Amino acid sequence: MSRRVDFARRGPYHSGSQERRTTNDRFKEDGLDVEEKERPIKVDILTVGLMQTACYVVADKETDGLLVIDPGGDAEMILESVSMTGCEPAVIVNTHGHGDHIAANGALKKAYPDAPLCIHRADADMLTDPEKNLSALFDMPVTSPPADRLLAEGDEMSVGENTLSVIHLPGHTPGGIGLYWPGTDVVAGMLFCGDTLFAGGVGRTDFPGGDEKALMACIRGKLFTLPDDTFVLPGHGPATTIGREKQTNPFFTSG
Ligand SMILES: [Zn+2]
Ligand SMILES: [Zn+2]
Repeated sequence: MSRRVDFARRGPYHSGSQERRTTNDRFKEDGLDVEEKERPIKVDILTVGLMQTACYVVADKETDGLLVIDPGGDAEMILESVSMTGCEPAVIVNTHGHGDHIAANGALKKAYPDAPLCIHRADADMLTDPEKNLSALFDMPVTSPPADRLLAEGDEMSVGENTLSVIHLPGHTPGGIGLYWPGTDVVAGMLFCGDTLFAGGVGRTDFPGGDEKALMACIRGKLFTLPDDTFVLPGHGPATTIGREKQTNPFFTSG
C-alpha cells in the first residue's frame, strides 16, 4: 500500500521551494478553525527542500523555550525563522532519519552547538549514513552530525512551560516518532507526526525498514486514541485533525 502526497502544493508565501506560514494561515487554508492567540506555543511552519518537507519552529510565547522539528533543508530560512523568535533552540529533533528531514541538522548544530540533536534510537544510525537515510538514492548525499540524545517512547521534551511527549511510531522507519502536546483547558492539542500520518494518507512503507502492519497498528492504537480535536502537523502537506482523519482518511474508512 502506498500513499500519495501532494508535494506540489503551493501556499500564498511560496517562493522557489521555500514557504513560511504561521499555524493560523495554515489551519485556515486547510479549513480548520483555530485561534492562534489563545495557544501558549507558537508554531512557524516552513516548507523546506526539494521534498517540500515541513520544518516546525515551535516557541513558547512567555519564556525562551524553542524547539526545531525536522530541519530538512533551506538552512538559512530556518536560521532566520529561529532568530526572529529571539530565542535559541533548546532542542533540535528529527521525527525520523530520512534525508529530507535531517539535511539542515548540521547548519543548526553549527549555529547552536549547545542544542542537543535528538532522534529515536532506532533511526540514529541513519543520521551519518547517506545510504541508510536514502539521500544517496537521490544523488544528494546528506550526512548529519550524530545524535546527542536518543529518544524512546514516553520521553519528554519541554518548550518553555509546555511539555511534549514522544510517541514511538514505527512503520515508515523503525524509529519514527510523534511529538504530542496535549493542549490546555481551552486549546486543542497538537501532534507533530513526521511521515506517519498525512491529511488523507499514511506514510510509505516500501523503503528499507518499512513495516505496513506496524504503521497501521500505531496509527490506530496510538494516534487515533488521542482527542479528536488534536491538530495533526505532518512531515509534508496540509495540517489536519485526528477526528477528520478517523472519519475521512481512505486508509481507515474503506475495506
Ligand atoms: Zn520519510
Ligand atoms: Zn519526508
